[in-house]
Amino acid sequence: MNKYVYSFDEGNKEMKNLLGGKGANLSEMNKIGLPVPAGFTITTEACSKYYEDNKIINEKMREEILKNLELLEEKTNKRLGDKNNPLLVSVRSGAVISMPGMMDTVLNLGLNEESVKGLANKTNNPRFAYDSYRRFIQMFGDVVLQIPKFKFDSILDKEKEKNKLDNDTDLTVDHLKTIIKGYKELVIKETGTDFPDNPVKQLLMAVNAVFDSWNNSRAIIYRKLNDIPNGLGTAVNIQSMVFGNMGNSSGTGVAFTRNPSTGENKIFGEFLINAQGEDVVAGIRTPREIKELEVIMPKVYSQFIAITEKLEKHYKDMQDIEFTIEEGKLYLLQTRTGKRTAKAAINIAVDMANEGLIDKETAIMRINPNEINKLLHPTFNTDKLNKAIKVTKGLPASPGAASGKICFSSEDVVKLTKNKEKAILVRLETSPEDIEGMSLAEGILTCRGGMTSHAAVVARGMGKCCIAGCGELRIKEESKFFEIGDKIFKEGDHISLDGNTGNVYEGIIGTEEVELIGKFGTLMEWADTLRTLEVRTNADTLNDADTAVKFGAEGIGLCRTEHMFFADDRILAVRQMIISKTKEERQEAIDKLLPYQKEDFIGLFKVMESRPVTIRLLDPPLHEFLPHKKEDIEKLAEDLNIEYSILKKDIEDLKEFNPMLGHRGCRLAITYPEIYQMQVKAIILAAINVKVEKGLDVKPEIMVPLVGIDKELEILKKLVDQIAEDVLRKHNVELDYKVGTMIEVPRAALTADTIAKHAQFFSFGTNDLTQMTFGFSRDDSGKFIGEYRNKEIFDKDPFERLDQNGVGKLMEIGIELGTSERKDIKLGICGEHGGDPHTISYCHNIGLHYVSCSPFRVPIARLAAAQAAIKNK
Ligand code: ADP
Ligand code: MG
Ligand code: MG
Repeated sequence: MNKYVYSFDEGNKEMKNLLGGKGANLSEMNKIGLPVPAGFTITTEACSKYYEDNKIINEKMREEILKNLELLEEKTNKRLGDKNNPLLVSVRSGAVISMPGMMDTVLNLGLNEESVKGLANKTNNPRFAYDSYRRFIQMFGDVVLQIPKFKFDSILDKEKEKNKLDNDTDLTVDHLKTIIKGYKELVIKETGTDFPDNPVKQLLMAVNAVFDSWNNSRAIIYRKLNDIPNGLGTAVNIQSMVFGNMGNSSGTGVAFTRNPSTGENKIFGEFLINAQGEDVVAGIRTPREIKELEVIMPKVYSQFIAITEKLEKHYKDMQDIEFTIEEGKLYLLQTRTGKRTAKAAINIAVDMANEGLIDKETAIMRINPNEINKLLHPTFNTDKLNKAIKVTKGLPASPGAASGKICFSSEDVVKLTKNKEKAILVRLETSPEDIEGMSLAEGILTCRGGMTSHAAVVARGMGKCCIAGCGELRIKEESKFFEIGDKIFKEGDHISLDGNTGNVYEGIIGTEEVELIGKFGTLMEWADTLRTLEVRTNADTLNDADTAVKFGAEGIGLCRTEHMFFADDRILAVRQMIISKTKEERQEAIDKLLPYQKEDFIGLFKVMESRPVTIRLLDPPLHEFLPHKKEDIEKLAEDLNIEYSILKKDIEDLKEFNPMLGHRGCRLAITYPEIYQMQVKAIILAAINVKVEKGLDVKPEIMVPLVGIDKELEILKKLVDQIAEDVLRKHNVELDYKVGTMIEVPRAALTADTIAKHAQFFSFGTNDLTQMTFGFSRDDSGKFIGEYRNKEIFDKDPFERLDQNGVGKLMEIGIELGTSERKDIKLGICGEHGGDPHTISYCHNIGLHYVSCSPFRVPIARLAAAQAAIKNK
């Protein structure tokens, strides 16, 4: 048979699911001998039962409540509603997972016209008694009778105004009696009945109301935001009141055992003298810093400090504590694990491990990898940000902070940055042609497009601040200005973007860079000793590679060579290559590209030193490299000395119905082997150069994209080996290079054993693999994925978090078949999922050797990989 009610003497901290966090911890504090006012808890199961029975407190529950009330009366030697020595209680909500301030609580319950007199006589403090009574009516009126709070406030304010009083504490007994009279009239007016006098009735009504508050709109929204299940329900705690409002030797406060925003190991808190409950947070009076308590009540203070230390040691985590002092006697009313910023979380975890309070594994497990994202990007200086003028807001597409001069085209960014100036690229939307400008700009602002638009995805990959979909912006790209409201911003004007919030500001705001130093650095080192999964990065530029190495990347898992093709000095040769009609013409254009590619790779190998570098041979459809606007086509025709109409037709001929499923990846090399031949030559020449000149043990891994058939790879592996060996022989150098493939076409996963015959490594390209497994176009899915999430067809966008059941199944098949053919095949992932902690954990479990993610996610991946290893110990 269910037991619905537990006294504080029966519970402990392990009983959170049944007693809620507050109830379990009140029992625990009682158990370890701390001063906690007596009371009892109605369980979360009772709450579920209440809802099951259509919001009825059943007979048995009622009996248990009344029985425990009797026990409480015996223990405290007071009686609820007594006219000589009344017991007053609080009725407090308390969920399993704490939801601060979301649900309701009623204080001072048990007062009526009789018992208030008893309280006044007994304490010899009528002012206190009537203050408690008016507080009770107000709270009960608000929480239980659902009368808007401001209506009570306005009665109180009127009385203060009438008597020219500034503070609630200045109200006399007579004022308070007038207020109480006003409150009661309000109740009759609002509900049509008298304020309930019977204390047991008050109690049961309050319990009902607290159960109901589980489903108030605040609580529902909070649960949604924090992924808390709706079915848990709340417990209700009935606790005898202690009074912080009994005069100047009484008070109430809240304290954290360490600083919740910085993590500093120093008590942090506030209190008020002669105040009760919510007064501290309500902001009616300005609370005082906790250390001032030392001056006012030294004894209480040192007792309090000793208790906070004891609690932190007992719970082995930073605690958030509520306390009340009644006429010089200290009581504890709550303790829970304190909420904290990401920065504080790291500092506290590392400190506690160093203090020996927790072990390193626990320290690592306490940090949410996604939360540290914010710490890895530059941020605005807080003071300067507060003074800045906000002009509009868009979607926070990629975190970071950026200030600079407005540019409306990629070319303008290139020009401006050549002069060492900082640029913000402002576009209606971006396209692959903007890559160079995007990479050189400090930040990107677009008017159209959502969180998965081109601008957003590319910027996140680059770790560059980006605000997308800023609809209020009216951009005139040709005339080089934009308007917001009645403000006009011209080319060269200064603006600032906050990629964490989506806010756009006027002028320049100073930024602060991040470094993995101090405790953050220590935590990362610990993570490295615990993880088994290698962490690499997706990097196309020296800048990316440099950042990633600083953040601890152990290699490059994906270098996309196409981004190198867009740069100003080479795009012409690329275009010439694409539209050439004969093999010779093509070879001529490709030969021009070779020295550039070689220099690119030399740079990359130098930055990466002896770490492995996976280079993907050209992947996108060629059409992407060609101009589309009339004037650009005209210019190209002139540059290449061909007729406009011919060029225009060539470009049109290259258009594909489904470019993503078209002539791209290894298919390009099957038809035009020259491109890959040039790229391989450039890679090997660069490796020789760096190996010979710098003595670095360069390890290139040459990766063929979009393979779906073993024969494709067989042909291309031969091509790579032929060129590589040829070049190496000529230079008489030995080099440890590898050839492998992406697994991104479902067929490749399903036939991975035959493919592994020709591949020394597999890298799961989960962006394309997701696209092809679902048959969702990555470029168009934005239009319906929102609705899919609304209808709960899936809870996460499968392009963000790997779909383990489908795409993951293919990966598992690929791994099993691949290793059956080649035991030592190296396995990694290079899709955007490689930076998602959830997916990283999965990658660990299915036996991948490394994950590869954008540079700014490297620390997140290191941490997530360590957590995965700890969980599976
Ligand atoms: P919340 O979960 O919103 O913090 P609580 O149930 O903790 O709500 O109560 C609100 C306020 O009332 C807190 O400041 C708490 O310390 C105070 N309080 C609750 N119960 C008592 C009590 N028995 N005696 C004195 N103050 C109390
Ligand atoms: Mg509380
Ligand atoms: Mg791909």
